[in-house]
Amino acid sequence: MNILLITLLEEINPLGLLHLSTFLKDNGNQVTTAFVPLNPKEELFGIEGNRVISDHEISETLDLIAEKKPDLFGMTLMTTHYYSAVKLTKKVKETFPEIPIVWGGVHPTLLPEECIEYADIVCRGEGEGAMLELVKHLENGESIENIGSLWVRDKDKITRNEIKPLTQDMDSLGFPRFDWENNYVLYDGKMQNLNKSIYQQCVPRKGRIYDVLTIRGCPYRCSYCSNSSFHQVYKGKGKIVRGRSIESILEELEYVKKEFDFVGIINFQDDVFLVKRDEGWLENFCNQYKEKIGLTFACKGSPREVSEENISLLKKGGLGYFQIGIQGSDRVNREIYNRTTSSRNKIIEASRVLHKHKVVANFDVILDDPFATDEDTLEVIDTLTKIKKPFLISCFSMTFFPATVITKMAKERGLFSKGKDGYILKATQAKRTYLNNLVEIAPRLPAFVIRTFVKHRGEKLAKVILDAYIYIHFNIIFKIMYSISKYPRLLSFLKKIRYSLSTSWR
Ligand code: SF4
Repeated sequence: MNILLITLLEEINPLGLLHLSTFLKDNGNQVTTAFVPLNPKEELFGIEGNRVISDHEISETLDLIAEKKPDLFGMTLMTTHYYSAVKLTKKVKETFPEIPIVWGGVHPTLLPEECIEYADIVCRGEGEGAMLELVKHLENGESIENIGSLWVRDKDKITRNEIKPLTQDMDSLGFPRFDWENNYVLYDGKMQNLNKSIYQQCVPRKGRIYDVLTIRGCPYRCSYCSNSSFHQVYKGKGKIVRGRSIESILEELEYVKKEFDFVGIINFQDDVFLVKRDEGWLENFCNQYKEKIGLTFACKGSPREVSEENISLLKKGGLGYFQIGIQGSDRVNREIYNRTTSSRNKIIEASRVLHKHKVVANFDVILDDPFATDEDTLEVIDTLTKIKKPFLISCFSMTFFPATVITKMAKERGLFSKGKDGYILKATQAKRTYLNNLVEIAPRLPAFVIRTFVKHRGEKLAKVILDAYIYIHFNIIFKIMYSISKYPRLLSFLKKIRYSLSTSWR
């Protein structure tokens, strides 16, 4: 079958849609994949709201549909793309009423009712099995009404099928591969064939970092995360956390090395890389990775899994960066976020282990949370001053995504309007308050300076100095870096200097 799949994700990523398109292609279908990133360049300086797809972007997408004449049009979306997906779907329906439209991804999985209003078919949960069955039924002219995981609309009648059991054999799903001839991207205002040079322009750091998944699912249930809702959706559908074999992971990494000679860092995007696997898995994996791949890698995990033994094995394998969640104060983590395995002491201990092994820790922190008080933010700042440098920080503004536990709590307590609505606002832009600014600059200034700012909070002079620092750092320096990004050699030289300064272990 001739299928066209599109994604509105801000950047081109091998995970998600590309995995599905590779799977469908490997099963005998002609699949075109189009990336319609909603203007990644504007992301550099941040936009407060989620941008809705423009008429021009819709027109370029319609031209591609006219050219490819697919038998099925699919779109993957998250909450942030909902309004764009609605707008695009209406236009596709108007122009090509004969093509069935299927929506999949996180948002349709959790909120199928509001998606089936626009799409003909909603695919809930992991899409490979259901989509393959859908394609076969359509090809054979059979009814699609009773396919597991699908909601199907036929005029006013909606059939809501149960979610299929989760695929337990992850290796059977293969791994995502680029198919340059059949991959498209809306770049520079035009829908065009994706090639390696455009790919490098569209992804961060010119494609030096490549994302790979070794497991699916997360064992935890943080209240603000869609994974907490997935535990409900997949209840009784089999084990949620499922890993790939070492052979399958290495096969993908060998493909990546061969196809993308500019990749320097493998970024394992698993929610919790150190999740419990078979006895001896980690040691075996690290040894083989070192021998066959040999690239620096990054991974994520909770402080609970960071131990001397684990980190020393990972370091020998090539671990360079470890992303770890602080998120909130102990009270907020325990009472609001359901992060019972995380505590300030564990975070500080995990940071000590990572520092000892010279692994750069990247801490995630949630700001602008109406459930948190200034005392909670001060505790987070205090934790950061106890962590040895160098480390990195990623701040997120609390965003109430629908169908999460925290959104329900916020609505019940009348706090929803004080947070960001996931449909319309970005999660990455924290408010520029005095305390938020201190969190963001904690990795850049000595601990005693941060403590001095904390001590003098509320004083005008302290605020003026902090605002000036923030302005210079986030406006002037970022803009200069953006301007010189047109001169790659100069940029790379400056980055080397900055890197060598920021990784002097203190
Ligand atoms: S550990 Fe991370 S991925 Fe897992 S539920 Fe919590 S926030 Fe979500």
